[in-house]
Amino acid sequence: MKISEEVNKRKTFAIISHPDAGKTTLTEKLLLFGNQIRSAGTVKAKKSGKFATSDWMEIEKQRGISVTSSVMNFPYLDYKVNILDTPGHEDFSEDTYRTLTAVDSVVMIIDATKGIEAQTIKLFKVCKMRGIPIFTFINKLDREGREPFELLEQIEEVLDIKTYPMNWPVGMGKRFLGIFDRHNKQFVKYNGNEEESYIPYTELDNPEHKDLVNNATYQETNGELELLDQAGDDFSIEEVLKGDQTPVFFGSALAPFGVQTFFDTFISMAPTPTARRTTDGLVSPDSDEFSGFVFKIQANMNPAHRDRVAFLRVCSGKFERGMTVKLARTDKPIKLSQTQQFVASAGGTVEEAYAGDIIGIYDPNAYRIGDTLTESKNTFEYDELPQFPPELFMRVTAKNVMKSKQYRKGIEQLVQEGAIQLFKGHPMETIIIGAVGQLQYEVFEYRMKHEYNVEIMLESIGERIPRWLKAEQVDTSLFDERNLLVKDREGNFLVLFKNDFALRWFKDKHPKVELTDLFEVN
Ligand code: GDP
Repeated sequence: MKISEEVNKRKTFAIISHPDAGKTTLTEKLLLFGNQIRSAGTVKAKKSGKFATSDWMEIEKQRGISVTSSVMNFPYLDYKVNILDTPGHEDFSEDTYRTLTAVDSVVMIIDATKGIEAQTIKLFKVCKMRGIPIFTFINKLDREGREPFELLEQIEEVLDIKTYPMNWPVGMGKRFLGIFDRHNKQFVKYNGNEEESYIPYTELDNPEHKDLVNNATYQETNGELELLDQAGDDFSIEEVLKGDQTPVFFGSALAPFGVQTFFDTFISMAPTPTARRTTDGLVSPDSDEFSGFVFKIQANMNPAHRDRVAFLRVCSGKFERGMTVKLARTDKPIKLSQTQQFVASAGGTVEEAYAGDIIGIYDPNAYRIGDTLTESKNTFEYDELPQFPPELFMRVTAKNVMKSKQYRKGIEQLVQEGAIQLFKGHPMETIIIGAVGQLQYEVFEYRMKHEYNVEIMLESIGERIPRWLKAEQVDTSLFDERNLLVKDREGNFLVLFKNDFALRWFKDKHPKVELTDLFEVN
């Protein structure tokens, strides 16, 4: 098969949501459709630690969670689906953000009873910044939730993206009758515990559906539907693919209800891999030469071997096991023999892969996050992965000063690997580390101890709002513990503001000092 045919089959996406919105439940249903698991509950079990596809590192076992995002792939319809997991809760970390650089689209789940929640906003921002197409699934229609119009309005206002309801719910909770599937022109009937049924619009007049059609909730919703058709935005696949409009599906992951039509429609609309930017211009996914980039490194998947696995997103050409590629950063050849493909059920060895696929490669401590691997003669690198603004900061010191050498080495390597971000106090060069999630500190502490044999002390300086500023505008007398002046790895100055109030106060007092947040810098 030609490379382009393979590429056009790939649908690589992540599911983002706030914890408890239903990501696990939905993922499980998608795996069921893909015949990857036989019964519901399998993925759930993984959450509680009863299910292990690999030897998670000790810390993962202790907490019964997966530290780093995993990858599931399976064939569905004519496609090859790759789902990248984005951990939430306390296991939220920079890896969660970085995963979004490796997908071509995103499914955002919103709990209809809660509306948009904090973590959804964070993840959404990253997608928006990178122009990733976003498909929305509003979940838990079997419960009393917020009004559909209110939910759409909230998405438009809070997330600043246009919405297009692909379907429209008739009632919710106890009054829930089903959805008008606007896209496929059918009514999907909710039958409680029984399977949903499909009634084409043209058949709704039939006498057998008279109870449904005469129902007051149905009548009312029919009016809303007309309003939507007349006054709502038009659907535009171009806008969807640019990330300016999000198709919205209502349903219930648990029932499951509306999940099949959602998935089929999503899969047919979601983009296949497209050209990506490199230092040598755009590289097309169907180019003959293999290339890809490392977006995550997972250490200690197997504590007995201290293995490291680099997660590589294939961006062009054909990957074949045993091939020799070039590591762009060093311009040195590397043979890719040990590869694992990530599947929900069991991990096997990958023999070949194409753009959109994610492969795990054995890492003899050679790779860094963001590294480009290529078969091409002219060396190029994929766009640098953005740094994500950390929110939590800690001062760190070694418990035993005699171990300062290992301590420095450990910090240097873990920072390079992207496990944690490094800052230095100014003018006193105290070491401060920043993270987007608490878990990163636990992993950092654990790895410093077990890999570098150094016990560390962490002193929290709490949640902070980082803002960068120009070196020529730095006046050390303006800063103190509340508005802490530090330098990042590249030597840029930034201020860690104690809170929103401190930030506003500073801006009012010193209007000439220009402050930028990282989202704008990149
Ligand atoms: P995650 O944290 O986003 O992975 O959320 P889960 O999939 O674990 O779901 C959180 C809770 O919501 C669980 O108790 C689910 O059974 C429940 N849940 C998920 N989807 C639905 C739904 O469609 N309806 C109802 N009523 N509950 C749901």
